[in-house]
Amino acid sequence: NAKLCYFHQVLLGDMGAGKSSLVLRFVKGQFLEFQESTIGAAFFSQTLAVNDATVKFEIWDTAGQERYHSLAPMYYRGAAAAIIVYDITSSDSFTRAKKWVQELQKQGNPNMVMALAGNKADLEDKRKVTAEEARVYAEENGLFFMETSAKSATNVNDVFYEIAKRLPRA
Ligand code: GDP
Ligand code: MG
Repeated sequence: NAKLCYFHQVLLGDMGAGKSSLVLRFVKGQFLEFQESTIGAAFFSQTLAVNDATVKFEIWDTAGQERYHSLAPMYYRGAAAAIIVYDITSSDSFTRAKKWVQELQKQGNPNMVMALAGNKADLEDKRKVTAEEARVYAEENGLFFMETSAKSATNVNDVFYEIAKRLPRA
């Protein structure tokens, strides 16, 4: 009785936080030191086996620049899940992530599964945002939190897997 479920998912966060790199790692198992900036948004898909079901993620990777902000609702409105990404070496990116969370809480799908990903966890020596600070924020706002590294692959599949487990399945 294998089931196939489709879910729209969106990645939001500051430009340079590593959204495209996380998707590339998840979908293709690759990492690029010089990942090109996303223009507008890019679409990817990947399937995951979760318990007795196959979950197919249809993923919108957004640009993150302020000038594309007005396009963002097109990508998050129909989304079942969102990963909000910041860079642990940038306090500004964490501030920006919190703004995205607020926007989704106000205007997103109320049942959306939200994950907060503190990316670039391999850059411990340049860390500006503590894991504790992010964990507390995530708990207070009903998100689940993980630190990830698209570079070393740490926790990348895990974020998607955790989302898949939390998604409602008919
Ligand atoms: P986006 O604008 O959020 O899509 O960010 P990108 O995926 O384009 O990444 C921006 C830059 O950060 C690129 O040069 C990546 O190689 C780098 N990068 C992304 N993820 C990581 C990571 O986990 N660790 C390190 N050290 N660099 C990363
Ligand atoms: Mg990008």
